[in-house]
Amino acid sequence: MIYAEEQTKRSFDNISYVPKPLNLSRSTVKQPTVLPQSKMTTREEEEYFAKNNYVARTILNEPELPPLSWSNWFKQVDWIKTIVLGTEPFIALYGICTTTVMWQTLLFTFIWGWLTGLGITAGYHRLFCHRSYEANQPLRYILLLLAAGAFQGSAHWWSRGHRAHHRYTDTDLDPYDARKGLFHSHIGWLLMKPRRETGVVDMSDLERDKAVRWQRRHIFALNWLMGIMLPLFVCGFGWGDYRGGYFYGGALRLVIVHHATFCVNSLAHYLGDTPFDDKHSPRDHFITAFVTLGEGYHNFHHEFPCDYRNAVRWYQFDPTKWAIWLFEKLGMAHSLKRFPENEILKGRYAMQRKALDKFGQVIVWPKEDVQLPMVSFEEYQELAKEDTDRELVLIAGYVHDVSKFISSHPGGRALLKGQVGTDATVSFHGGVHDHSNAAHNTLAMMRVAICKYGGEVECLKKRLGHSAAATPISG
Ligand SMILES: [Zn+2]
Ligand SMILES: [Zn+2]
Repeated sequence: MIYAEEQTKRSFDNISYVPKPLNLSRSTVKQPTVLPQSKMTTREEEEYFAKNNYVARTILNEPELPPLSWSNWFKQVDWIKTIVLGTEPFIALYGICTTTVMWQTLLFTFIWGWLTGLGITAGYHRLFCHRSYEANQPLRYILLLLAAGAFQGSAHWWSRGHRAHHRYTDTDLDPYDARKGLFHSHIGWLLMKPRRETGVVDMSDLERDKAVRWQRRHIFALNWLMGIMLPLFVCGFGWGDYRGGYFYGGALRLVIVHHATFCVNSLAHYLGDTPFDDKHSPRDHFITAFVTLGEGYHNFHHEFPCDYRNAVRWYQFDPTKWAIWLFEKLGMAHSLKRFPENEILKGRYAMQRKALDKFGQVIVWPKEDVQLPMVSFEEYQELAKEDTDRELVLIAGYVHDVSKFISSHPGGRALLKGQVGTDATVSFHGGVHDHSNAAHNTLAMMRVAICKYGGEVECLKKRLGHSAAATPISG
């Protein structure tokens, strides 16, 4: 099997979260013998579900904003985000066409793009939103500053939306609901005002967090400082390229970092496969991982969101995971969370089993026992003798009609002919030849009856002195 190398000895003892067994020796609670049946009608059950299901109840009771039309669309546009996101590609393009690029500026743009991107992936996403590891105060501030340079709102705003995305994936309460199309989940959700309130999430931890509160208070100043002024001055003071610093280190880098991050909401819900769960849209693909600093193993991430890794295999591209690992080695991070390997394997197993079951559906399987008539051993012998059109052979309790196969028998027709009317179980199972899997499968398709007390093979019957009559199974 594919995961044979992972078949290490596992037991409950080495899974950290498995609790000790309950001590029920003194328990007086009586276990019900019959489970109570629901007395509700289907309609009552639907109403009960809507009343007790947060998503269904919210959708029912809180209608979304009126649909967009020619008369109201301009009131529904989020103009600030639309202007920023709509003009930045043109500013970058203008800069590329009118500014000679210096290699130092290009190198800085690349490094600053990675660092501000890491501020989002290792900071906003894996540290603040999912708390997949703990970071010391300097690292928290560094990541908050870097992420501010990516112009993606405050850590609080970003995490609010992303926590709702995880909790309400593929529902109307998911702010970047992938069911509404690639454009909506990529950027459309930012350009228009949300059609309905995002689902509730617990933000109490980030509301208490001093660093997050500080960043939220100063986010606009920090955006300009880290996103525009820093590239401008580094390139300007460093090698006299103020213009390049603005257009390449500022505008072009922002376009790339923005759309790379947006791909986590769009591409990561469209491209790739679902090795852990296919209930929802998140998918794993190395292309998405490549453009998002490792966030492309999104099926894994939605299954195990508090794991600091998105990629679990050593060869998969997840530079954010490597950065967090480095933070730990530098003493800036600790308590890196890893979901238990046992549960990760269960996800893989369930999906492989599902694929195997689907594959099995295209195969024609032998008739089931209930579809076959039952005959006694003596009746079988009689049938084999009298029905000259058929060549009947008994093997392992099943009577097989081998007449259409006998001429193709690899061991020769004579060998098989000699077994007609006898119990050939022993011969088939290695007495004459140790038959292959294919032989077993082919034989099973030729079943025409079950032999009564079929587990009883002729040689055993003889040894037990029951050759004359069928012996009922006792006990
Ligand atoms: Zn997602
Ligand atoms: Zn996430």
